[in-house]
Amino acid sequence: MGRRYQDGAAPSITTIAAMRHPGPLSAAALAVALLAGCTATADSTTTLVAERPTTTTSTVPALTTSPTLPATAGDPYFPELGNAGLDVEHYHLALTVDPDTGVIDAATAQLTVTALATLAEVHLDLIGLEVTEARIAGKPVATRRDGPKLVMAPGSPIPEGTRFVVTVDYRGTPEPFFIPGTDFRAGWVVTAEGLHVIGEPDGARTWFPGNDHPSDKATFTISATVPEPFIAVSNGVLRSTTTDGSHSTFVWEMNSPMATYLATLVIGELVPVERAPAAGVPITDWLPSDLAASPPNALARAGEMIEFLETWFGPYPFSSYGHVVVPDFAIALEAQTMTVIGRRAVTERTVLHEVAHQWFGNSVSPATWRDIWLNEGFASFAELLWIEHVSGAEFMNAEARRRHEQLGSSNHPPVDDPGATGMFGVHVYWKGALTLYALRAELGDDTMRQILTEYAQRFAHGNASTADFVVVASEIAGIDLGEFFRRWLSDPDLPPLED
Ligand SMILES: [Zn+2]
Repeated sequence: MGRRYQDGAAPSITTIAAMRHPGPLSAAALAVALLAGCTATADSTTTLVAERPTTTTSTVPALTTSPTLPATAGDPYFPELGNAGLDVEHYHLALTVDPDTGVIDAATAQLTVTALATLAEVHLDLIGLEVTEARIAGKPVATRRDGPKLVMAPGSPIPEGTRFVVTVDYRGTPEPFFIPGTDFRAGWVVTAEGLHVIGEPDGARTWFPGNDHPSDKATFTISATVPEPFIAVSNGVLRSTTTDGSHSTFVWEMNSPMATYLATLVIGELVPVERAPAAGVPITDWLPSDLAASPPNALARAGEMIEFLETWFGPYPFSSYGHVVVPDFAIALEAQTMTVIGRRAVTERTVLHEVAHQWFGNSVSPATWRDIWLNEGFASFAELLWIEHVSGAEFMNAEARRRHEQLGSSNHPPVDDPGATGMFGVHVYWKGALTLYALRAELGDDTMRQILTEYAQRFAHGNASTADFVVVASEIAGIDLGEFFRRWLSDPDLPPLED
């Protein structure tokens, strides 16, 4: 997530927003979830999973005695999110959308899943929306809503290790949410020009059922049917466009594992602008027609940024890149391979920040939301590297000193445990960035490049925690850096910058 921090402004924004939106799940969203009720279907005695051996079927215990894991991922900040009992391999989302109203007229989510425990029920994250039918291995199953969960009862338990397909048909209007600690409306955002999705951190569950925690990454096919002249843009590569009467269907494929919060859908009257490939990576921007006629220079530099960042982080981790410009969004989100950027947010710094997230955040995703500085501190550090690249070291050092002064010397929330409402606070971004700036000063450029490249490669397309990064850095540096990181990330005081 790219945010612009003016001098001294960010802490007060964070404080006000924290009071206004006290928890990870807003009261309004929770009310919607609770009111949605049970909507289901079908013969609950019908079994079951096609892949399941019949011998196992006949011996599984009764539903009430089946071992189940708690249906969450155990995140310290969003304890209700996710499901540690499921590993989603692929999402196939197909939506028919009216962009004028934001209504999903019809949608089907098909999840290819492996049970990591014996499952008496299958729990997915879903807030609001009307579920019209759910099927497991093609057979309709009973469903109910339990707060922010969609619960499906397969009739008899699904054994651990079973690979199966869950299909959910649904419709309705997704409820937007607020990014914790901010005043930014996110989720499924309907504008005068169409709509867009900002999923971080927990907005994916407002528009499709899933395992909505970054620890469970999956490949995606996202298909959207929209009326002409609208275009639908999503993650990865546009595989096909078909037109039937007045409607067109756009099918996008993301073939690298992706956290749910990075899935996006943008619907608008957009024009593709092809850029020169960089480092072998094709780059396409999707812009409103006035911008397509005269594209901002900041967007045109993304290829140069990819090539520059490869010198610090190693190979770009995906097979495409691009931006989609939307109205009514003051910041940007690094949706995987397709950054969603507000028209007013198109600056070189923001573009660079979101490109850097493709390595840190998207390929290497946080193990839990407590590890958010591994996204934001790293992308902000990349901004310093870019300043040095285009303007020289003295400008980078001046910017680092300015940020250091701006942070103040004491009473810092821990960068490595900022709390749910502090996740997008200035310390996560800039004390996190200065931690890496100071590490580079301590160890030198060659060692710093090795650390960043090794970390990016070891955890590529997976997840990492703060402890994982400290291990890699200590290993490459050949010294125990635990105390260094504790001082920078955990102490309430700000260490000095070396001259
Ligand atoms: Zn960011």
